[in-house]
Amino acid sequence: MNILENVPMNEHTSFKVGGPARYFVKAESVDDIKEAIQFAKAKALPSFILGKGTNLLVSDHGFNGVIVQLGKFFSNITDLHNGKISAKGATPLARLARYTINEGLSGIHKLAGIPGSLGGAIYMNAGAYGQDVSQTCIEVEFIDADGNLHKRTTNECNFSYRHSIFQEFAKCESKVPEPAEGRQSNLLSETIISATFQLTPATELGKTAKDLEAEMQECMEKRRKSQPLSMPNAGSTFKRLDAGAAETPTQIAPGYYIEQAGLKGYRIGGAEVSRVHANFIVNAGGATAADIKALSEHVQKVVAEKFGIQLHREVILLGEF
Ligand SMILES: Cc1cc2nc3c(=O)[nH]c(=O)nc-3n(C[C@H](O)[C@H](O)[C@H](O)COP(=O)(O)OP(=O)(O)OC[C@H]3O[C@@H](n4cnc5c(N)ncnc54)[C@H](O)[C@@H]3O)c2cc1C
Repeated sequence: MNILENVPMNEHTSFKVGGPARYFVKAESVDDIKEAIQFAKAKALPSFILGKGTNLLVSDHGFNGVIVQLGKFFSNITDLHNGKISAKGATPLARLARYTINEGLSGIHKLAGIPGSLGGAIYMNAGAYGQDVSQTCIEVEFIDADGNLHKRTTNECNFSYRHSIFQEFAKCESKVPEPAEGRQSNLLSETIISATFQLTPATELGKTAKDLEAEMQECMEKRRKSQPLSMPNAGSTFKRLDAGAAETPTQIAPGYYIEQAGLKGYRIGGAEVSRVHANFIVNAGGATAADIKALSEHVQKVVAEKFGIQLHREVILLGEF
């Protein structure tokens, strides 16, 4: 196991901010993960599983613990035949979606524009355009905090909107005080190492691989038009609201309220509420993690004051703020 020290996290997060990780391990085997967990325990430090850092805000002070990121060994897709495929935790979701299109399989092809890893997607139950990973995932393999291998079925994963049991476990195992709202420290928790999906052959739906490709391209085009993809960001800042709280479909979108509150373009330091999509905060140049956090709290406060609506952060915070 190769342990690096004081690794700047701005190089590992899509926001391009964040101070140093005290220790950083790129795990190239299951044994590396186990060793990293032991190393953290021996030093009485928390550990954190990093995916591609696309839903993550790391403190400017960094993280005084052990960050474990799955390496190349964990980026792999296996065809199990009859629409069943398995992929390892570090596989980019985009690569997995592309693979399923080439195989003429429907179910996760619309997720091609989500820039995270499969592990991060399972942890978050990532989704877009009517698909999320929980709909087709049938089994998840993971390593627990003691280094033991386990499997969970979909039901056991307790998936719901942007939620999985892996988040619940991260909280209850955490050796630090209960995290503040929106702060789901994945400390001493479970490492997702692979997931298996049961997908539907396009032919069974009266479609071809070309149709799946066209559907995927349509989703990508919607993203290009509606998201600030040229500026560092971490996707949606806040989770959508419960349908029950809204009278029209647009009103479940946090961006609707943020825009109505006149906050598009509002800045704190280098952090800006995107002018393209109000539910995105972008690093408009030289932003700190503190700027981004302060801006997200300002947005929550203004929307609560104006509309009586509490926005819940989707982006995960790591480290001391
Ligand atoms: C431009 C842009 C567009 C986006 N669009 C969408 C979208 O349409 N839909 C959507 O749902 N999200 C979207 N996101 C957010 C993000 O890409 C997803 O949440 C993604 O699933 C996070 O994956 P990641 O590998 O980057 O995880 P990270 O950000 O690295 O981590 C997120 C959480 O997952 C945990 N985690 C990561 N890997 C593992 C693992 N192997 N085992 C256990 N825990 C793990 C981490 O500990 C952390 O708590 C977008 C982000 C960006 C920047």
